[in-house]
Amino acid sequence: MLEQIDNRVLLAKHTRREFRQRMESGELNACIIPVAATEQHLEHLAMEHDFRSVMHIAVEVAKKLDPQVVVAPSMSIGISEHHMRHQGTLTAMPGSWLGVLFDTIRSVNHAGITNILVLNGHGGNVAPCEGIWGQFLQRLEINLWFKPYWDFLDEGVAQANLNTGVWPGHAQEFETAFALAAFPDNVRHDAMQDQEDRSPQEASADAGQSMIDSIVTNTAEFLAGMIEGTQSAEIPDFH
Ligand SMILES: [Zn+2]
Repeated sequence: MLEQIDNRVLLAKHTRREFRQRMESGELNACIIPVAATEQHLEHLAMEHDFRSVMHIAVEVAKKLDPQVVVAPSMSIGISEHHMRHQGTLTAMPGSWLGVLFDTIRSVNHAGITNILVLNGHGGNVAPCEGIWGQFLQRLEINLWFKPYWDFLDEGVAQANLNTGVWPGHAQEFETAFALAAFPDNVRHDAMQDQEDRSPQEASADAGQSMIDSIVTNTAEFLAGMIEGTQSAEIPDFH
């Protein structure tokens, strides 16, 4: 039922009537589009890690700002050519991937939402998005942002909770701690012990939860600023 907050924050759980009524009421002011990947995460983490983690942050942020925010379905395949030597990794060409992302953003905007945060959970998506973001802004002229979720982790909280001092890293201490806190079923402890890379063993669930709390708080503050008008994307303009 849409009355339940877990459903209300997800765009795809709405019927068209429910969504229309919420738009007409003026209560929906922002959308998070999570983008991520499905790729190898060493021997010990499930391949869904990047989209599971970014969805976790997106949903917690939307709940904090309820009823103003909906979360679009995650783009769960990303730009992962650099991981293809490990079987099971899925990857998209940057051009086609950016095309689907642009069309998703445009569709959300078409519904009448002008505050859109593309929240990213995979490092390989960063350079292609940063390269094209100015053109997206020129085309749409809306309050559109691209942010990797780990940019919202408070540096002091990270230093206090990471023995290696490294984040985000790839399937290292930070991501392993996140999984231990939010979805421990994705962590294979036996494989973590016997693989060559030892840094994931530094991770703990408590540290993961502290870092998730910091990220959710800071992302929600940023998105609230977008809604209130204090965080406005600058449309590149050339005279
Ligand atoms: Zn990852």
